[in-house]
Amino acid sequence: MKPLLIVTGFVAAAALGAGVAVTPFLIAADDGPATTQSISQPAAPAGSGQAAQSKPATAGQKTAAAVQPAAAPAPAPEPAAPAPVAPRKNYTYKSFDVDGAYIAMTFDDGPSPETTPRLLKTLHERNIKATFFVLGNMAAKHPELLKMIADEGHEIGSHSWSHPQLTRISQAALDKELGNTSEVILQATGKRPIYLRPPYGTMKPSLRTLIEEKYGLTIVNWSVDPNDWKNRNSQAVHDAILAQVKPGAIVLSHDIYPTTVDAMPRILDELIAKGYKFATLSQMVAMDKPLKAPMVASVHAGQKPKPAAQANAKPTASAGAPKPGAQAGTKPAAPSGTKPAAASAPKPAATGAPARSAGVY
Ligand SMILES: [Zn+2]
Repeated sequence: MKPLLIVTGFVAAAALGAGVAVTPFLIAADDGPATTQSISQPAAPAGSGQAAQSKPATAGQKTAAAVQPAAAPAPAPEPAAPAPVAPRKNYTYKSFDVDGAYIAMTFDDGPSPETTPRLLKTLHERNIKATFFVLGNMAAKHPELLKMIADEGHEIGSHSWSHPQLTRISQAALDKELGNTSEVILQATGKRPIYLRPPYGTMKPSLRTLIEEKYGLTIVNWSVDPNDWKNRNSQAVHDAILAQVKPGAIVLSHDIYPTTVDAMPRILDELIAKGYKFATLSQMVAMDKPLKAPMVASVHAGQKPKPAAQANAKPTASAGAPKPGAQAGTKPAAPSGTKPAAASAPKPAATGAPARSAGVY
């Protein structure tokens, strides 16, 4: 649902954690002053390796602040166009391979005047930037909520106009579902969405290509699904997210359910205590590492199509040092090499394919 970025402290952290050029965003996103270097978010206990995992989610663990200052030579935000890193082509994002314990919280089906403002407050209090996949029909009724979401620095993506299975509708219907939704978002926020979460996660390669080319939308599904639309139970939502999350995860949930919104403060506080940091999808895309196994023919030179067996390889429990995020293979990502991304209890997590039953995704 939300369009772009904004992650203040995040940027700085990102700069440290991932030697990636994240700066470009800054400008775009932030609501207030480009607090690029507002340094650390509370979370990111950079060197807290295992310590992090046991730490109870005590409200005020803002300790990290002490650690980061020095390391935040965050380059000044560039002026002009954000020119964010372009998303991969012909690809469906379900999670990311990043250095550091970054995750993307995504909220679908809104915005709703009953619940979305409350969620925004929860996020604001923790300086967390998320992504909202809004429905065009909801957005059209509440443009002010869209504006509010965007002004808070969150990213807004499209979730279609009326939540149909996109693989089952006509070309004309698709125009309305995607074209109109992008238009409403553009008018309310000044920015056209670049990510689409297809209802139910339903998609197929040929349609994905068409959507990319015709509407400029990249498909984003998820890796963590608390089934909050079904259980409508705050505790269950909390337990599921905490059990499945791991660095690079894309967490799915819905901002239209009171139970989900009620659960968020505690969920977020616990994630922060574990060392997780939050980023919008655009920011995650910017930090995402290149695919290890070139799916297409991109390897001419160093013909070394490393096996992509990585990811879901189940992180060795404690494994003294190697944090999940770092298993990038060879490249020790210069800067972050030290940062034992709290990745505390990174569970295997719901592997790639989201269980798409008949839910209300
Ligand atoms: Zn949905």
